[in-house]
Amino acid sequence: MTVRIVVSACLLGENCKYNGKNNFDPLLCEALNEHEVLPVCPEVLGGLSVPRCPCEIVGGAVMNKNGENVDSQFRSGAAKAVKIALENGAQLAVLQPRSPSCGVGEIYDGSFSGTKIKGDGIFARALAAAGIKAVTPKEFLDI
Ligand code: SF4
Repeated sequence: MTVRIVVSACLLGENCKYNGKNNFDPLLCEALNEHEVLPVCPEVLGGLSVPRCPCEIVGGAVMNKNGENVDSQFRSGAAKAVKIALENGAQLAVLQPRSPSCGVGEIYDGSFSGTKIKGDGIFARALAAAGIKAVTPKEFLDI
């Protein structure tokens, strides 16, 4: 059955990561072939540049590694990406693990030390609030 799926654009090979690179996942792309794919990068939609300073959620707000608060850009980008998902009737989202936007179930702890904790990124939370289920590529491939 063909499903309409929102996908983190970096997983599809778009160079929208903070470091100007991507997270291309060939197995995921192959599995997505039979579906309708809606690529989104909420951080770019929020007006952030590529490349950009790495960010983490620190005490509930998104901060970059230089200590600047970028929470409003993250939230506005997440809202725009959710709007795209809803307007296009997306039934599912497959998102890049551990990102402060796209992380599902696990993110970094805000110390910029590579320490992981349970939690969701800003976009993953906004999708859940809109009733759209989000999974990691591994979870999608295991479905
Ligand atoms: S915001 Fe999401 S789509 Fe954009 S680079 Fe980060 S993980 Fe990828």
